[in-house]
Amino acid sequence: MAGQYIEAMRPAALFDAIATPLRLLPSQCAVCRSWARQRLCEACARRYAAPCPRCRRCAIGVPAGVAVCGACLTLAPPFDGAIAAVDYAYPWDELVRRFKFDASLDLADALAHRLLDAVRRSDAPRPDWLLPVPLSAERLRERGYNQAWELARRVARGLPCATDAKLLLRMKDTPHQVALPPGRRAANVRGAFALEPRRRHELQGRSVAVLDDVMTTGATASEIALTLLQAGARSVQVWVLARTPRPGED
Ligand SMILES: [Zn+2]
Ligand SMILES: [Zn+2]
Repeated sequence: MAGQYIEAMRPAALFDAIATPLRLLPSQCAVCRSWARQRLCEACARRYAAPCPRCRRCAIGVPAGVAVCGACLTLAPPFDGAIAAVDYAYPWDELVRRFKFDASLDLADALAHRLLDAVRRSDAPRPDWLLPVPLSAERLRERGYNQAWELARRVARGLPCATDAKLLLRMKDTPHQVALPPGRRAANVRGAFALEPRRRHELQGRSVAVLDDVMTTGATASEIALTLLQAGARSVQVWVLARTPRPGED
């Protein structure tokens, strides 16, 4: 398992080796194409990543002055709170797609920066562990990198806090959540996650933030939160780059 993981991480390590000197050069903004020092220029960051009020529990956009959304008041999720940097809408949907499916690792710094900003703005307690939502070994081999880990290691470096891609494991490859109706998504991920058996004790009494690129229904985050709490974690937060607005909202 570990061997496969290291093998699959190579493209990202190679990218790091090449990208580090390139960071010193100007590049084109991934949204407006103007020349900038980062892959997202400051004007686009201000325009598209402006902070907005979000539900403290699930990070969905809410009207100003509202702390917790109606859905969370009716049925609170198993995680204690959530942070999202942006809505999963233009231009983030396209940037995340490129980052995830087109191997655009050059976007990782700019995307991680948005989430780091949102975390720093929030009053959420700093977790003991920041854990990326894992991919199955098969998906990791296919893609060559885990996009959540690429964000997590950058966010953790900025805080700083401990992070690890091998503590939380995905035990089975499940169909893509986006391919399923919302009502089927919880069943799809049930039992999909576990902790590395020899390292369960490392979570005892610890606070954890789970990091993913996008949260839609929260089914994956909820399943992971339950797994971590059962393993003895004291509290679980969810940090995502982008939160899908509920249907009819944008
Ligand atoms: Zn721009
Ligand atoms: Zn909510």
